[in-house]
Amino acid sequence: MLRVESLTKRFEGLVAVQDLNFEIIKGEILAIIGPNGAGKSTVFNLITGTLPPTSGNVFIHEQDITGLKPYKIASKGVARTFQTTSLFDQLRVIDNLMIAYKWRTRLGFWNTLLHTRTWKTDQAEAYKHSMETLEFLGLAEKSDQFVPVLSQEEQKRLAMGIALVSQPKILLLDEPTGGLIQEETDRITDLINKIRDHGTTVCIIEHKMQMIMGMADRIVVLNYGKKIAEGTPDHVKSDQAVITAYLGG
Ligand code: ADP
Ligand code: MG
Repeated sequence: MLRVESLTKRFEGLVAVQDLNFEIIKGEILAIIGPNGAGKSTVFNLITGTLPPTSGNVFIHEQDITGLKPYKIASKGVARTFQTTSLFDQLRVIDNLMIAYKWRTRLGFWNTLLHTRTWKTDQAEAYKHSMETLEFLGLAEKSDQFVPVLSQEEQKRLAMGIALVSQPKILLLDEPTGGLIQEETDRITDLINKIRDHGTTVCIIEHKMQMIMGMADRIVVLNYGKKIAEGTPDHVKSDQAVITAYLGG
C-alpha cells in the first residue's frame, strides 16, 4: 500500500534516517519502534511531505509521491497525528474536527469564498462527518466542550479524530499513548484495533514495547536511523540486535 525505498534524511552533521526500506501492507497494524532519536518521527515527516528526503522515495500504490506537498499526500489517503498534540484550545471539540475536515477535503476558505452557494452544504457535510467521528471515538457528549476541559486521554482521542475525520486509507500515529497511564493506554489500544477493524491501515510509532507486542502484526525496529530488525512481534522480541539496542542489552 505504501512503500519507502532507500529513504535517507540528513540534518546538519547528522543522518536521522539512513537507507531505509519497508512497506505498509493493506489492513495491517505496522509498528515502528526504537530508542529516542532513532529517526521514527522523521520517517513520518518524510512520508507525509512535512520534510523532503535527502534521497530515496516514497510510493503509495506504486505511485511515486516523493517531494509532494503535504496536502497532496493527504489527498492520497494518508493522515497522521503528531507526537505532541496540536489542538485548537480556543475552539470547541466539534470545531476542531470541522476545521480538519474542511481543510483535508479542501472545503476551505477559498472554496467557500468562490462558491458561496455551497457554504451551507459544506458546513452540513463537515458537521455530519465530525459528529460521526466523535461517536466513533466515544466523545460525542463532549462535542461542545472546549479542548482544555478534556482529559489527556480525550485530547489524544480527539487528535486521532482529526486525522480520521477525512477517512484516510492509512493512519500514521506518532506515540498516541505518550504520557498516559496503563489503563488509558489499554483504552487507546482498543480504539486503534477498532480503527483497523473498520478497514483503515495503521502504522504506529511506539515506545511501549508491551503495548506493541500485543497489537502489531509486524514491527520495524530502528536504531540510529537504520532498520536493525523487522518481522512479527515474536521474531523481533527474540532478535539479539533488538535486545541489545532497544532494551539496552
Ligand atoms: P524519534 O522520533 O525516533 O525519537 P526523531 O525522528 O525525532 O527521532 O529524530 C531523529 C534525529 O534527528 C534526532 O537526533 C533529532 O534530534 C534529529 N532531528 C529531527 N528533526 C530534526 C530537524 N528538523 N532538524 C535537525 N535535526 C532533527
Ligand atoms: Mg519521535
